[in-house]
Amino acid sequence: MELIVARNRADLVKARGEGRLALVPTMGALHEGHRSLIRSARAAAAQVVVSIFVNPLQFGPNEDFSRYPRTFDADLDVCREEGVDVVFAPSVEEMYDPARQVGVSAGRMGAIVEGVIRPGHFDGMLTVVLKLFNLVQPDVAYFGQKDAQQLALIRRMVADLDVPVEIVAGATVREPDGLALSSRNRYLSPQERQAALALSSALRAGAAEKGPAAIRAAALAVLKQAPIELDYLALVEPGTFEEVPDSYAGPAILAVAAKVGTTRLIDNIPMGNVGT
Ligand code: AMP
Repeated sequence: MELIVARNRADLVKARGEGRLALVPTMGALHEGHRSLIRSARAAAAQVVVSIFVNPLQFGPNEDFSRYPRTFDADLDVCREEGVDVVFAPSVEEMYDPARQVGVSAGRMGAIVEGVIRPGHFDGMLTVVLKLFNLVQPDVAYFGQKDAQQLALIRRMVADLDVPVEIVAGATVREPDGLALSSRNRYLSPQERQAALALSSALRAGAAEKGPAAIRAAALAVLKQAPIELDYLALVEPGTFEEVPDSYAGPAILAVAAKVGTTRLIDNIPMGNVGT
């Protein structure tokens, strides 16, 4: 089957086929992390739609919206290789009415951890995800654990707003040396790429410990040695992204964000029982 590229709502309606429909939302610059989500979707659904949309609403004024990598032709090749049925790639004008007013509010979980550094980011992300769900009307949608707070918020939105879409998470795909794949990795110089390894090393060091205090201390010890600018290290409850107290026992996510040169990277590791 030939890949269909839908640029607007009308194309999307025409492209819709029969059977279980899976959506993989992306901002393009596709890599192995995206491919693994697409493969899971392909294995589970009759139709696979990949959306490619760099969403201006989820970028702050000093963020990298205009220089975010756009590699559309290479992305189409990836989608062809992975047997995608439809790429939905709308323009900003197609997605957003200039008179628009209403959006999704992420609530408290959107204002903590990553939300402290990127105010408004999660509102913009949830708004576009809900619009994509309404436009594509998938039965199931695939998201990466790499963006753990995003995933938790999407699960929260689907529950809180009764959105009839099943959410499936895909594990973080990494380079052999541990670096989590990201579209932003291409900004890194060779020296910065080396420095960026501190994020995944710190998470591994933390995950080898028991007890929240020891986990945080081990991860911070690694991060302090590296030529990076740490935004946060957080050990959080997976459903709410609230920091866990030192007395906590149960599952948690160890999450980190840092600037490496001018590139901002995030990573996380889900942990089982973090109690002593
Ligand atoms: P993005 O294009 O960066 O917005 O990401 C689109 C989807 O791919 C999101 O659900 C991300 O969480 C997911 N993703 C990004 N990087 C990875 C990775 N290294 N492993 C698995 N999924 C990823």
